[in-house]
Amino acid sequence: MSLLFNLLFPPKCASCGQLLPHDIADAEALCPVCRAEWESEILETCGICAKPVGECSCMTERMGKAKCAGFSKLVYYYPGKRQRVQNRLIYTVKQSREQRAAAFLARELARNIEALLKQEGISNEEVVLTYIPRGSRSKMQYGTDQAKVLATLLGKQTALEVRPTLRRRFGRGRPQKKLDPAGRYRNAKESFAPMEASIPALHGKTVILVDDIVTTGSSMAVGIRLLRQMGARRVYALAVASDIVNRDVGVY
Ligand SMILES: [Zn+2]
Ligand SMILES: [Zn+2]
Repeated sequence: MSLLFNLLFPPKCASCGQLLPHDIADAEALCPVCRAEWESEILETCGICAKPVGECSCMTERMGKAKCAGFSKLVYYYPGKRQRVQNRLIYTVKQSREQRAAAFLARELARNIEALLKQEGISNEEVVLTYIPRGSRSKMQYGTDQAKVLATLLGKQTALEVRPTLRRRFGRGRPQKKLDPAGRYRNAKESFAPMEASIPALHGKTVILVDDIVTTGSSMAVGIRLLRQMGARRVYALAVASDIVNRDVGVY
């Protein structure tokens, strides 16, 4: 970033919005306080596999039943806790207020993807990145499709192919937030449909399905099933955060 640009638009913390110290590294998006909080959040231990959350692959039961190949995430999400560093980052991306938050999360997620591909011996050419699309109501409310924003930035970071593969069925589906777990799954099943045009591009591919927060994993499970029906060889889930309830309940 040029000096003049930084003078005109002084860089702010992607989480709390405070001005960043002038001597901070160019790639740093968090102020020292938020950085310290972030470093401790990514070390939170999974109650199922005992690894740090950022390295664990455990998933919800729904995702397990859908034959999800693995679920990679950065941190746990604490519903309603607005002061947590990750919650502020996710709200910021949702409300499209600040590019730095999305860019920061994409950089962190790109590291998870690189580690995953290396560990599983998957080459970049085999991979398609895609995302859970938001409904038009949510897009109107927040002005953004946050999973799409993250997937697009991730494509730039990792040089992997990004393509839309799932669509919302018009007039179907309600906001997941207000439903119980069984209702969420039924609702997700009614909400999504395959984009027929992307079927040829999925044949035999490893697909990484991106979302911001996984709660029960209903949208992910429905997306994974559809992608497998569309010809994907295997589907990994990738999210910024998994709800804290999933720390101790799920499948290894
Ligand atoms: Zn901060
Ligand atoms: Zn785990």
